[in-house]
Order: sequence, then C-alpha cells, then structure tokens
Amino acid sequence: MKIGIIGGGIVGSSLYRILSEKHEVKIFDASVKTQFPTLIHSLLLKDCDVELASLSLEFYKKYKIKRMDFTSYTIGKVGDDLISSWTEHGVSVKETYVDWIGDKALEAKGGDSLVSIKDLTEVPKEKAKVGVLTSEKKATVKANGKDITGDFDVFVLTAGGWNSNIIDQRIPLKPYYCWASLMKGHRRELDKFIVYDYVLGFYSRPAIGIGSPLFIAGDGDIIEMRPPEDGKARKPEIKDRDLVISRIKTRFESRPIYVSGNFCEGTPDMRPVYGRLKDNLYLVGGLNGYGAEVGPGMAMLLEMMIDKGEERRPYMLDRFNGVENFDLGREPHEL
Ligand SMILES: Cc1cc2nc3c(=O)[nH]c(=O)nc-3n(C[C@H](O)[C@H](O)[C@H](O)COP(=O)(O)OP(=O)(O)OC[C@H]3O[C@@H](n4cnc5c(N)ncnc54)[C@H](O)[C@@H]3O)c2cc1C
Repeated sequence: MKIGIIGGGIVGSSLYRILSEKHEVKIFDASVKTQFPTLIHSLLLKDCDVELASLSLEFYKKYKIKRMDFTSYTIGKVGDDLISSWTEHGVSVKETYVDWIGDKALEAKGGDSLVSIKDLTEVPKEKAKVGVLTSEKKATVKANGKDITGDFDVFVLTAGGWNSNIIDQRIPLKPYYCWASLMKGHRRELDKFIVYDYVLGFYSRPAIGIGSPLFIAGDGDIIEMRPPEDGKARKPEIKDRDLVISRIKTRFESRPIYVSGNFCEGTPDMRPVYGRLKDNLYLVGGLNGYGAEVGPGMAMLLEMMIDKGEERRPYMLDRFNGVENFDLGREPHEL
C-alpha cells in the first residue's frame, strides 16, 4: 500500500519506521514544531496505559532509539494496585527515605528513561503544509496546495496539536499549550534522577544527565489554545508560572533560567485516540503530555489495525461518538 503520513513528530516518525517494513510510506511535515531533544519515557502510568508504554519500550529497543535509563523517586501516596502493575512490567520499586529530597519516596528502577526524540524523528520527510478537506466517505489531501489524494491509498493524520487546524471536520481533540523550565540549583542529584512530586505538584528530570547543576521541571498544566495558523509559535501568558516555580523552590533551592513550551492535544477522557475517520484517512492523536511514553505504542496499534484488522478498544475513536463539546481534564500520566 502507499501510505501518506501527515505530521512527522513522535507518532508520525514511529509509524514511518513500522509501516515502511511492508508498505511504501512518505511523511509530509510542515516543520512548524521544534521537538525537545529528549523526553521522559516512564512505565509508572495508570491502567492500560502501562501496557501502551510497554509497547513503546519494545519499539525503542527494536529500532535501537537512543535512551538513557534513570532511577526515579515518586513523592506522595501511590496505591498498591499501581505498584503491582509496575512490578509486573519489570520495574523494581521500594519505599525509602531520600536524604537529598528530605522526604520518603518510592524509588523505582527499570521504569524510567530519557528518549532521544532527535534520534526517533530522524526519518525522511518532505517539507509541506498539509490541509485535509472531507466529504461523507473520503478525504481530499493537499500538500502546499497541490492535490495529492490520488498518490496514496490511505493517509494518517498525526500532526499533534495542529490536527484540528488541518482538517475541516470536527474531531474529538483539543490543542493546548504546555511548558517546562530549565532550572539551576545546588542539588546535582536532580541532573541524575527523575522526581515526580505529587505532594507539591511538579516533576523534575535531568537536563544533561551527568550531575550538572541543571535540571528541567514543570507541572503539566494545561493552557487551552490553538497553535497559530501562520506556524509562528507565540508564548501565551502562563498564569501559574510563578506559583509552580515557587513550589519547585520549596523542595529544591533553585532558580529558573529559561521557560519553554509547545503545543499538545487532549481528548474528552485525556487518553490517546486512534481509528478510521474516512475510507482513506486514519487518525492517531491526543497524546497530551506523554507522547514519548505512549506514542510509539499507539503507532504499533495503528499498524495492527491497518495490516490485521485488530482493534484495541480503550483507545478507539468510536468511544467519542456523540461527544460534541468537552473540557480538557488532568493529564493522565499524573497519578
Ligand atoms: C514542555 C513539554 C514537555 C513535555 N515533556 C514530555 C515528556 O517528558 N515525555 C513525554 O512523553 N511527552 C512530553 N511532552 C509531550 C509530547 O511532546 C507530545 O505528547 C508529543 O510531541 C505528541 O506527539 P505527536 O506525534 O502527536 O505530535 P508532535 O510531536 O507535536 O508532531 C506534530 C508534527 O506535525 C507537524 N505539522 C503541524 N502542522 C502541519 C501541517 N499543516 N502539515 C504537515 N505537518 C504539520 C509539526 O511540524 C510536527 O512535526 C511534553 C510536551 C511539552 C510541550
């Protein structure tokens, strides 16, 4: 089959690697997003997302995507059911007092890593701004204004926060802005470990990973907005910025150096979604703040749907049939 992928981010690039094994695949990407060089992959998720993150890990290993493993510390109450599910997926977990955190935490080994998104997304792409017009059964796809519908058997729409800008049809996805801050502090452990602080409400992760004074922290807060049509990223007003930074400073003496963010997207239940929108158009989206954790897993699910007709119900598009308006909720990777 000839498959056109619209958007070459985490999912589009994962799909390219998987589908190219059996099909003729081409990615169209408008180059409107600068990806963060590394992102967290964690198995410390909830419910069936743990299996999805496990699939992503399989993908990273199979395609030899660069990753650095890190021990993580989770502060706050975690249910026994979650701990058993993490242990079943190979994570070793124990409660311990951590001197440099100044609190008790769940120490997890084998569950967290930083994935090289640069490595993952280094696949061939054609630079083009794509638009999709829909009729009852079919999608008409244009790249830089040129109709390319007939050049492909099917397309996959996977342009993250830009999806709803690209297609003329209402889809159960809403874009939002999410930010994180590069911080400098005294605790060099913060550049060697990942911390999920559910008491104060933030996460921190290494910036370089060698014990430097730098780390990256954020809170996964959601600022609902559409990416600008002209592709020029503009920072929205981040109302809770000072509050979050003060919470980070309460735990770890530090100061912000640079705040950066980008567009993510969520569904009505904040879980990812995939399925067939039209006879010649599939969708994979709604990866909110955990695309590196579940994105390659979603790409694997779509491949199973296209090639074998298999469906993974909890993530299917039809669960939103009849949903008209909705508000975005809390990011699902937060416990
Ligand atoms: C501050 C911040 C920190 C984050 N930290 C983490 C983390 O640690 N771990 C994690 O798992 N996730 C994290 N995320 C979330 C992660 O970045 C997203 O979930 C992920 O990027 C979504 O992947 P995607 O493939 O759906 O879309 P994206 O990666 O956003 O890719 C979309 C692609 O579509 C392209 N595009 C846009 N418009 C068009 C068009 N008209 N035509 C063609 N192409 C187009 C863009 O250029 C882009 O390449 C973070 C996000 C932010 C903002």
